[in-house]
Amino acid sequence: MSASQSATRYLYDLADGDASMKPLLGGKGANVAEMMRLGVPVPDGFTVTTAACVEAMRRDSQWPEGLWEETLAALERLEDRTGRQLGSPERPLLVSVRSGAVVSMPGMMDTILNLGISDATVEALGAESDNPRFAWDSYRRFIQMYGEVVEGVPAHAYEDLITAMKRTRGVEEDTELDVPALQELVDQFKAVSREHMGEELPEAPRDQLRRAIDAVFRSWQNPRAAIYRKANGIPDDLGTAVNVMQMVFGNRGDTSATGVCFTRNPATGAKELYGEFLLNAQGEDVVAGIRTPRPLAEMKDLLPEAYEQLLDTMRRLEEHYGDMQDIEFTVDEGSLYLLQTRNGKRTAPAAFKVARDLVEEGVITREQALRRVEPAQLDQLLHPAIDPEHDQKPITKGLNASPGAAVGEIVFDSDTAERRGKAGDAVVLVRWETTPDDIGGTLVAQGVLTAHGGMTSHAAVVARGMGKPCVAGASELKIDAAARQLTIGDTVLTEGDVITLDGSTGEVYAGALELVPPQINEDFASVVGWADETRRMQVRANADTGEDAAKAREFGAQGIGLCRTEHMFMAEDRLPAVRRMILAKDEEERAAALETILPMQQQDFEAIFEAMSGLPVTIRLLDPPLHEFLPDLVEQALLVQRLEQQAGEASDSEELAEARLLLSQVKKLTEMNPMLGTRGVRLALLYPEIPQMQVRAIARAAFAVRQRGGEPLVEIMVPLVAYAEELRRMREIIEETLDEEFESSGERFDYTVGTMIELPRAAVVADQIAEHADFFSFGTNDLTQTGIGISRDDAEGSFLSAYVDSEVVAANPFSSIDVDGVGGLVRLGVEGGRRAKADLKLGVCGEHGGDPASIGLFESLGLDYVSCSPYRVPIARFSAARAVLDAREDDEE
Ligand code: PEP
Ligand code: MG
Repeated sequence: MSASQSATRYLYDLADGDASMKPLLGGKGANVAEMMRLGVPVPDGFTVTTAACVEAMRRDSQWPEGLWEETLAALERLEDRTGRQLGSPERPLLVSVRSGAVVSMPGMMDTILNLGISDATVEALGAESDNPRFAWDSYRRFIQMYGEVVEGVPAHAYEDLITAMKRTRGVEEDTELDVPALQELVDQFKAVSREHMGEELPEAPRDQLRRAIDAVFRSWQNPRAAIYRKANGIPDDLGTAVNVMQMVFGNRGDTSATGVCFTRNPATGAKELYGEFLLNAQGEDVVAGIRTPRPLAEMKDLLPEAYEQLLDTMRRLEEHYGDMQDIEFTVDEGSLYLLQTRNGKRTAPAAFKVARDLVEEGVITREQALRRVEPAQLDQLLHPAIDPEHDQKPITKGLNASPGAAVGEIVFDSDTAERRGKAGDAVVLVRWETTPDDIGGTLVAQGVLTAHGGMTSHAAVVARGMGKPCVAGASELKIDAAARQLTIGDTVLTEGDVITLDGSTGEVYAGALELVPPQINEDFASVVGWADETRRMQVRANADTGEDAAKAREFGAQGIGLCRTEHMFMAEDRLPAVRRMILAKDEEERAAALETILPMQQQDFEAIFEAMSGLPVTIRLLDPPLHEFLPDLVEQALLVQRLEQQAGEASDSEELAEARLLLSQVKKLTEMNPMLGTRGVRLALLYPEIPQMQVRAIARAAFAVRQRGGEPLVEIMVPLVAYAEELRRMREIIEETLDEEFESSGERFDYTVGTMIELPRAAVVADQIAEHADFFSFGTNDLTQTGIGISRDDAEGSFLSAYVDSEVVAANPFSSIDVDGVGGLVRLGVEGGRRAKADLKLGVCGEHGGDPASIGLFESLGLDYVSCSPYRVPIARFSAARAVLDAREDDEE
């Protein structure tokens, strides 16, 4: 290897770079180089690489060998190209020295502008622009910036002098200071710099340049940059590039200007002129808002050539990057320069419109369009949102359990919510945590706020299923339901006070904030439709009613992946029969109670089969522990006590007897760890009459729907299986029951039997379980609970949120799957299952089925489908497509 090949190159002229060199040139350097490559007018210059900065850090601020020589040579080339020289009293070259990290860190590092201005050059600059004031103002700005950034002179040292000068001259604004005043300030600035530095300000511009580059290197390590990196997960060892570019001036008189523009309207996405500019001004004047900028259209008359060139450049840049651009430009004596272009930030509706329009204009492909919107933006359009223009501060923050915004009066119990909601009042149900009993209130409330419970808590699951905003586990909330009052720090709110919830962020506001309605439009439908062309996985919905199923189908669900049958048991008209079943003294009594429930269940299933006709419906047999259908132990004990006191002598009243019976049953069924107790398949094997009744209801519903011309596709799912033997026995019960139904009706239908994989043991022995299963559906809620060993009801309200805040864990594992741990269990389950049965159908129905990041994992594991609440179906469709694109990109790398 020759010496020249082995030496690291620490510097590139802009003309030698391009967009692909971002790691070396930083975002800004690579971007400007790319523009130059495209022939877009940009100020000329060169970039000192991130590698040079890293090397300097490694060597304790000593520059790597050869860097200074390379810099001097690059400067000479720049001087040749521009026909100007740094420090020359004729046609002086002025440069900017700017940081430019690989990942944008706006405002975190340092910049020095106007380098090259000095006693020797200031007059020439003034004469050239015919504007001595501009020259002297630039000079004083330079001394100030150089002093602060490079030499560490405190900002107030200069600011105090400006204030004093304005006072003696009797003016208000900096811009009113005239040439003599500015000249005097320059002298004062030099003196104050000398005082602080203990030496003269270096006059030689090459010296200044070296020190300025060095200061930008150092600014990578300043405290605010370090904090920003930590907050944004940017590695500390990347270093920054340093861009040295010729200064261009928008403040050289009336043929100069500076401005910003977007290639489309970032609020609406419309293809129209959007931007503003100021004549005779510098960039900071636009930002500072001292003068009101003019709409871009006015530039047409004032600077016609630059205007036409700008429009043409906007078109080219948008086409090149295939996305809406956010552009900063300067016109220096009639010549246009682009200082920056980047993909423009935009609202959610604009994101969809831009993506769709760019496809229709032939600028990008449909697959590229899928990269122009983010899943969170889908969420925003699917639900009402708080108008982003507000300036309110939230009173507290909980978990963003179900997206969308809600405004309503506080109510503290479900019955009141139900009564007032039905009367047409907008109410928000505020509870310590919700129980199945709260379903009535939830249904009519605008939203739900709980102090306790997590992302997979009942409140969250139910609210998501209904598409209702929910903030859960807002642990600062102190609720006194009896006093109808809630307290958050010093804020006290009582029933009837209005609050606003943002279920997308978890924020809670006092009072009513302005909302914007959901905006599902053709742009949205087109983009999500394109996702369907790309994705591999199917998307199903978790839905328990015909109504939800119909909604899910509307959103594009390709079946039901989880129908939780317990929600049907909770309905008010069912609960008495369900309780009779649980309290039955013998099998006969239980059978009688089940007889009452059966037709109701059949009705539920009919509605779902009908809504999903022709698409698969996975019905899960009863899962929760029975005590969930009974009153709370403490409340029931208190009721018995109260009735005993009331009854006095007549302690054998019927009501009391019933209450006592219920209490003893609640006691019997109450478990210390109900989530690990008698639930799921365990319950079904203890009381086979229950699954038998459910299976009969399924069969009869299927026949009834078929008779009406529908096409029910039946899949029966067994929850909480840990042992293959459990599933073998359950399958037997299901098959025998169905055979009986087939026999008595004289007809039959095809069906499959599968299981949830939601316990670690099941994942480990998935090959054994697969022998008895036609499909697996990963219950990642319980698999997270049992796999990590954290309670899905409690953890998020206690240590887990602290873990998330202090980054012990990267994300809440109940929202976004723990890839290494729980994801590893899913992987085991997939491998075991497919080993035993190559065509085993695999899906996921935990809440992670609607989470974009988790969907990426499921795609990589080759699952056949994800299932999520109806309102998340479009996001899942979209995310499944993105997962395919991401995987393809990884392959290509
Ligand atoms: C699960 O555990 O992931 C699941 C889908 O079931 P549930 O949330 O009803 O326990
Ligand atoms: Mg479960």
